[in-house]
Amino acid sequence: MASQSEVIDRLRATFRSGVTFPEQFRMTQLQNLLSLVEENEQLIQDALHKDLHKPKFESVLSEIQITLNDLYFAMENLRTWMQPEYNIGKNLATRMDDCFIRREPLGVVLIIGAWNYPLHLILLPLVAAIAAGNCAVLKPSEICQATEQLLAELIPKYLSQDCYAVLCGGAEDTKSLLKNKFDHIFYTGSQVVARSILLAAAPHLTPVTLELGGKSPCFIYGHIDIQKAAKRLCWSKFFNTGQSCVAPDYVLCTAQTRDALLPALRETLRTFYGPDPGASLDMGRIVTPRHWRRLMDMLEKSKGKVVIGGESREEDRYIAPTVLVDVQESDALMQEEIFGPILPILTIESLEEGIDYINRQEKPLALYVFSDETSVVTTVLNNTSSGGFCGNDGIVHMALPGLPFGGVGASGMGSYHGRWGFETFSHRRGCMNRSWLLERVNVLRYPPYSDYNLGWLRWATTFKKNSWGGCSVM
Ligand code: NAD
Repeated sequence: MASQSEVIDRLRATFRSGVTFPEQFRMTQLQNLLSLVEENEQLIQDALHKDLHKPKFESVLSEIQITLNDLYFAMENLRTWMQPEYNIGKNLATRMDDCFIRREPLGVVLIIGAWNYPLHLILLPLVAAIAAGNCAVLKPSEICQATEQLLAELIPKYLSQDCYAVLCGGAEDTKSLLKNKFDHIFYTGSQVVARSILLAAAPHLTPVTLELGGKSPCFIYGHIDIQKAAKRLCWSKFFNTGQSCVAPDYVLCTAQTRDALLPALRETLRTFYGPDPGASLDMGRIVTPRHWRRLMDMLEKSKGKVVIGGESREEDRYIAPTVLVDVQESDALMQEEIFGPILPILTIESLEEGIDYINRQEKPLALYVFSDETSVVTTVLNNTSSGGFCGNDGIVHMALPGLPFGGVGASGMGSYHGRWGFETFSHRRGCMNRSWLLERVNVLRYPPYSDYNLGWLRWATTFKKNSWGGCSVM
């Protein structure tokens, strides 16, 4: 088996040959990736079920279809994205010049995936890397072994082995991989590991995209159809057993709303999963015993009152959809991202109190507001910051390839999905081909310098409207 550095050298040699640059090559590889997903849908579902007990419905929606949609979107728009951009603001001095931006591939990029959506967290960045003309090393999460093995088997069958490679392994293998020089590192995972990714990137000055997590708040405030809100909240929270980076982490609402919400949540969960969610085929499991233990520790240490669920089984890593009330800011459940089927409700007196609480925390990956009152939604939107935002629903904003997906502050840096991924894996090369015309303006810059020439040059290079009788964008 080739060593990590041999694989990277092979990919680098391919990249330097320019084979990944033409549109036709990128399109063929995207088409091949499409075939990989379409022809192996059943194998993918089986692997995801083995790893995470994922129901078919959730696998299809959040792993397979989201990847297919991003592929369709990229293939539809590739030609447009690749076009040089000529809509550049010019001044008089550059009026006759050919000014444009070229999107160029970066080189050999590294994509490191997390376990909660083990297929799409590798394939979506790969779509973007291919579309942008890069070679890529893929490092899936070792925690979901069935999916990891399936990717290692299928990628070389469908995609060019000289351009794309899967390297499997855990933390130690990833650390050794990171000693190599890459042209970009795209990392999805925890904030703790993200710090070591940045440290590993620093000696090579490698640019990094970090897709991290955090505690995504969910306001339920003001006038609202509580039954509908409960359904959307339960679906987005308990989808993938709460193991979504954008899952609503906790609810902020008044005591009055909480009292109306609880029976609606109870009824919704019964409708979704029946009287015993542990027996429902639509309820997944916690990924490993270690992750199950972490969640149970948080639950056991919490001073909140369990009002829904609370049941658990260690043997099959089950935790029932659980809701707690009387949770304080200092509670164990409020100290770190929950990333499981546990939903604390924090009671607030006013919208401002909730906004103030959010602004005292790290910036979240997503922020949700359920309200019929536009002023409530706008007030929260205008007075907070988060990676993404969704009014009156949870998690669905991440499924639209037109919207950038990524964090801000502690929830990450950079973004992807659709064109945003293409931009992440492209260098925007600012180009200027100068004309030999307008030489009278050009000579103004040459020594011997004079205040007279400086005055004219300032006028000719300014972007102030109408300073030279024209507009700044041509
Ligand atoms: P993780 O950080 O443990 O692992 C992610 C990847 O990092 C794996 O491929 C793993 O092999 C590698 N890794 C682990 N330890 C490493 C080390 N010391 N050095 C180098 N590489 C190492 O993360 P996780 O538990 O797999 O993922 C959970 C976190 O990811 C949550 O915080 C969640 O919110 C976040 N997440 C974010 C997104 C997003 O798109 N923003 C998506 C999914 C998950």
